[in-house]
Amino acid sequence: MAKYNPVTPELLEELKKVVGAANVKTDAETLDRFKTDEETDPRLMHLPEVVVWANSTEEVAAVMKLANRFVVPVTPRSAGTSVSDGAIPVLGGIVLNMEKMNKIIEINEDAMYAVAEAGSRTIDIQMAAKAKGLLYAGDPCSAESCLIGGNIATNAGGNKAVRYGTTRNQVFSVEVVTPTGEITTLGSRLKKCSTGYCLEQLVMGSEGTLGIICKATLKLLPLPPYKVDVAAVYDDLDKAVTLVPNLVKAGLEPTSVEFMDSNFLKSSCEYSEIKLPHCDEGVCYLIVSMETFNEDEVDAKMEKLAEICEESGAIDVLEADDRVWTVRRNCLESTRSLSKIAQSDDLVVPVDQIANCIKRLTEEAKKYDFTMFCLAHAGDGNLHFQHMKGDMSDEAWEEQQHAFHETAYSYVYSLGGRISGEHGIGAKKVYAMEKYTDPVELAMMKAIKKALDPLDILNPGKVMNVY
Ligand SMILES: Cc1cc2nc3c(=O)[nH]c(=O)nc-3n(C[C@H](O)[C@H](O)[C@H](O)COP(=O)(O)OP(=O)(O)OC[C@H]3O[C@@H](n4cnc5c(N)ncnc54)[C@H](O)[C@@H]3O)c2cc1C
Repeated sequence: MAKYNPVTPELLEELKKVVGAANVKTDAETLDRFKTDEETDPRLMHLPEVVVWANSTEEVAAVMKLANRFVVPVTPRSAGTSVSDGAIPVLGGIVLNMEKMNKIIEINEDAMYAVAEAGSRTIDIQMAAKAKGLLYAGDPCSAESCLIGGNIATNAGGNKAVRYGTTRNQVFSVEVVTPTGEITTLGSRLKKCSTGYCLEQLVMGSEGTLGIICKATLKLLPLPPYKVDVAAVYDDLDKAVTLVPNLVKAGLEPTSVEFMDSNFLKSSCEYSEIKLPHCDEGVCYLIVSMETFNEDEVDAKMEKLAEICEESGAIDVLEADDRVWTVRRNCLESTRSLSKIAQSDDLVVPVDQIANCIKRLTEEAKKYDFTMFCLAHAGDGNLHFQHMKGDMSDEAWEEQQHAFHETAYSYVYSLGGRISGEHGIGAKKVYAMEKYTDPVELAMMKAIKKALDPLDILNPGKVMNVY
């Protein structure tokens, strides 16, 4: 591990010269606020030494130059909705907060793109595009709180990834500050490009270890005017999960295929104060959305979808109105009151293996004392498990989490999957990244990181152990 210096009064003075004294905070309350993101286990939190708010790309670059000069680690932070400990300053130093760089600079209707600073809220970008009749297709469930820089850094997925892909598919170019403090724009507003390495794609999804995203040019799409939203209700997990391959085979091109197990359905209905049909009957829901530009297609698609749901054994097929989507969106939030400490998991497998994976790991979880909830962006093979610690002792919790993960990760790799589909590795899964990644692939990643960030200043302790 690289050796860092503590934040000194001299560094604080230099930081104040760059961003202004009001944007450099070291009071106990501020440091305490930024010791965690969505992490709930106090043992995994870590205090920064200083929190700095940047107002421009130039300020970000100047902070990075200082951090390299003083050899102090920097953790970039957007809204702190990371569920993989990505925004926790695990090695102390500077938390660099991007939330003040929040201007949506341009929505270009004719050329269909948006330019936004990294601290723009995702939902604000979605709404600004919608106001012009356009779609920004990035749509994580946390869209109301997370920021576009955080989405790009994690390559966030979400509800619409089945049809439109993840965040990296929504981006033309990014203005970044490199780990050593240089400013550059990677990528371009082009439909195709074979001009050298595709560095923007390398930085996107690097979880803030290869560059700080300061501004992005985003792709916008025509907003489909018609939508078909259906919730299929199943009393049998086996039957529910067969819907996914059938939908794909039927060529219905869904925008979303979201799975909620009975635990999540019940807790989220209670939390949202919405009583959905069958929510107390131990059933699971599969929500399917389709979009179309042609009104005539709506009825035909609806009919075909209902037919496939019934054939797969749905006990009920409902219109998935706002109430259903609210329940889906509130799933994670709804478990907060059930256990002070919880662990979110994010696994991805080939789409044709999603059914096997949900069944196998739900069964596996029954061996342990924690309660497990399961959600899936089923249409893109991405599963989320929420484990609730409840009254378990710390030792038993750690032991059982470890045992479950060892089984789950090996199993997922045996199916051709990976240990994160959208949340990233953060600090939480570094050990698993080191253990399960092909050694040559891991060595390539480490060589890239070392070349771009020789002092390991930018977000150290995340994704992998570089030294
Ligand atoms: C209720 C809930 C629902 C969620 N739903 C989804 C979902 O559907 N899909 C999904 O993918 N995720 C989801 N998440 C996880 C999380 O919202 C995403 O990972 C999101 O992209 C993080 O954005 P943020 O602005 O909160 O970033 P942060 O949490 O602040 O940071 C995330 C990571 O990016 C780095 N980073 C932040 N900003 C920058 C920057 N400007 N430049 C470089 N690096 C940076 C940080 O160091 C950290 O490693 C959910 C989380 C919650 C709590």
